[in-house]
Amino acid sequence: MLDNLTENLHGRLREQLLGRERQKLYRRRLTLESAQGTRVSVSGREYLAFCSNDYLGLASHPGLIAAACEGARLYGVGAGGSHLITGHSFAHHALEEALASFTGLPQALLFSTGYMANAGVVAALTGRGDAIFADKLNHASLNDAVLISRAKFSRYPHLDLNVLERQLAASNAKSKLVITDAVFSMDGDIAPVANLAELCEKYDAWLMLDDAHGFGVLGPQGRGVMPHFGICSPRIIYMATLGKATGVFGAFVAAQAEVIETLIQHARSYIYTTAAPPLLSHALLKSLELIEREEWRREKLTQITAVLKQELQPLRWKLLPSATPIQPLIIGENDKALQLSEALRQRGILVPAIRPPTVPKGGSRLRISLSASHTVEDVARLGAALRELDNSA
Ligand SMILES: *Cc1c(COP(=O)(O)O)cnc(C)c1O
Repeated sequence: MLDNLTENLHGRLREQLLGRERQKLYRRRLTLESAQGTRVSVSGREYLAFCSNDYLGLASHPGLIAAACEGARLYGVGAGGSHLITGHSFAHHALEEALASFTGLPQALLFSTGYMANAGVVAALTGRGDAIFADKLNHASLNDAVLISRAKFSRYPHLDLNVLERQLAASNAKSKLVITDAVFSMDGDIAPVANLAELCEKYDAWLMLDDAHGFGVLGPQGRGVMPHFGICSPRIIYMATLGKATGVFGAFVAAQAEVIETLIQHARSYIYTTAAPPLLSHALLKSLELIEREEWRREKLTQITAVLKQELQPLRWKLLPSATPIQPLIIGENDKALQLSEALRQRGILVPAIRPPTVPKGGSRLRISLSASHTVEDVARLGAALRELDNSA
């Protein structure tokens, strides 16, 4: 039996949970019984899935599985310690060098996750008395990173560089940092990185790019958002994750040597945590090789993105204008988005409904994610199901 006071604590949580349920905001997890891919098995049923960030179809690639097994044989399973205390292995080091060379930046540093990389960078480079400027639609991990840093936080309306410029001009902070998603995770649009870099030049600010969704997908050989725009600047701090298009797990930051050395000394989410298993780095080296070599994966994405747009053209709901594999279909109300997601599921198709607070109120959507492993027929099947639902609603 819980005593009265403890019962109060739990009662309050129950109230909050019920409130979430009433607003159709309650989140539930699916349990996958298969590997990640365009076909996944949930509760014994097979689904055609448009949910994952595995844009290049590498998450269960046989070459990566073989590399992970080989990595386990070479390095064992656990890193056994943090990077600064014997957890830093040859595989981590080789991957950092490969990532620096792949991105064309002087030095790279691995983090366990993108969430941790963002927290580490922002708090290592800024503190009290400094100022951070952020796009309103940035990923939650960047917003949390700002809170940890204790710097002054200004947000500008999505992609509104006029407001950003006014904020930069008005600031007399010691150190200024502009942070932005390179590809916005819920909208799929791309930040105007060249213009942002110009502004940062003019107002002497750092520019941090979170290319979680662009790395492997954008630019020649998938080298990311900077080569996509043909820009490079020593004030850019580039972050990308390795669990999305790269198909494995982890993240890295690439920048000038002074920045990376500062992170090794000061980034708390780098220092006070166990290094990721080196076998993952071993697999990631293989993944980088495939990203670089297999252009057909990006060509395939371009092809099926065009097919999707055509298939969904007749719908009353509209796709946001996105040139990336993130294709959001805007529905509006939470329960309508949920209903559609559920109706697709009954038809054997998984597309997640994304609701506030992940997206703004009234902006609930179906977030369709495409992968190089999808076929034109897969996309046509999704199109037919949505057209049918549109007609019957
Ligand atoms: C997924 C994501 C992250 C977090 O990366 P993890 O490695 O999953 O922690 C950070 N930023 C953006 C924009 C993301 O989409």
